[in-house]
Amino acid sequence: AALSDDGMQSGRIMVYVRLRPLSKMEKEAGSRSCIRIVNKRDVYLTEFALETDYLRLKRLRGRHFAFDAAFPENTGQQEVYDTSTAELIEGVMQGRNCSVFCYGATGAGKTYTMLGTMQSPGVMVLALKDLFFKLKQQSRGDDYVVKLSYLEVYNESVRDLLSPGRPLVLREDSKQGIVAAGLTQYQAYSADEVMILLQRGNQNRQTEPTRVNETSSRSHAILQVVAEYKVQQEASYVSRVGKLSLIDLAGSERALATDQRTLRSLEGANINRSLLALSSCINALVEGKKHIPFRNSKLTQLLKDSLGGACQTAMIANISPSNICFGETQNTLHWADRAK
Ligand code: ADP
Ligand code: MG
Repeated sequence: AALSDDGMQSGRIMVYVRLRPLSKMEKEAGSRSCIRIVNKRDVYLTEFALETDYLRLKRLRGRHFAFDAAFPENTGQQEVYDTSTAELIEGVMQGRNCSVFCYGATGAGKTYTMLGTMQSPGVMVLALKDLFFKLKQQSRGDDYVVKLSYLEVYNESVRDLLSPGRPLVLREDSKQGIVAAGLTQYQAYSADEVMILLQRGNQNRQTEPTRVNETSSRSHAILQVVAEYKVQQEASYVSRVGKLSLIDLAGSERALATDQRTLRSLEGANINRSLLALSSCINALVEGKKHIPFRNSKLTQLLKDSLGGACQTAMIANISPSNICFGETQNTLHWADRAK
């Protein structure tokens, strides 16, 4: 990948895989693991029915993938954050726009990774904690502002998760780029207050009409954090703005089967336009194309200023170990492999 003026890698997407533990229910149902992670970066996917010696041999020959890092099932939230996201906070402190995505099938651990629980906060909260720490350390006094927006893209409509109501209209603003008109900007003073805010916001995500009390697998949740601060440069202080976007994507099931078809032919089909459009943009970026098709969906319009160029991007692909999820896991690993 090309190196920019300050020696940072640009254009390159860092790709990580996180394996979640088998759930109690999966264990009780006799699920076995079809994933092995070696050296914290190599992932082996094997079809399970294989326990004889001959088959064990075949199992070791399973499909192999290598990523920037792969997190085994016992990896804690802090380690996932430190490896995947901490560096991007440095980017925000240099006035960059950075983004982290969680990609994967429903139930693979995206929301756990991004939001987490009260006891084990995820990337969103750990990133804010780190950001406040660095702002206190590196900026002039308390002269900084952190603003949060939490929004959802569901069926190509954009909603404010901090203040639910009617869909928001996206507008092109000459200074700020694409903005959602009327979106709440919550001024945060510490990471501690944020968890409750985000948990509440997450409960506002659209639910599947057929599945009561279950967060929709088709909703993308986007936390946007804008930090405005002053840093010392030679004898004076200069203002800087950095932006961090943390995205809990819709479930990737169904997306890949139709991946080869054009977006137009998918109109009205029961698939997720924003997720496909994001894949197209990532593929175009990885291939070094000049034209990146941001206009094709609401999600990619919202992320236009946070992908490519001097932006830093990390992708965390979440997978389940269960042999029952073999097909989805394989799709996720292939998708992540192409984002490298
Ligand atoms: P997704 O958002 O991808 O649909 P979730 O994050 O909701 O999936 O995870 C599904 C279930 O698995 C949840 O009950 C969650 O708490 C649990 N889970 C996911 N990842 C982990 C993990 N790394 N450690 C422990 N439990 C996890
Ligand atoms: Mg989820």
